[in-house]
Amino acid sequence: MLSTAIMIPVPDVNSYITCPRCSSQVIARSNFCNFCGASLKPQPIVLKICPNCYSRITEKAHFCPECGEKQK
Ligand SMILES: [Zn+2]
Ligand SMILES: [Zn+2]
Repeated sequence: MLSTAIMIPVPDVNSYITCPRCSSQVIARSNFCNFCGASLKPQPIVLKICPNCYSRITEKAHFCPECGEKQK
């Protein structure tokens, strides 16, 4: 029996990004999310300094990825 499935090479895990709108995993090269249609064009990342460990973290982070400090 022939399979009609098309074999697609599995992209590297690192080539996935998380959609900012629906949190789906989408391929990083995509311009739009294939789940919700949100624009995925690279946007400038605003960094701030963690008040606890002084690491540079993204402004939207809820917790510091370095020390786990809860962010405002
Ligand atoms: Zn989406
Ligand atoms: Zn920190």
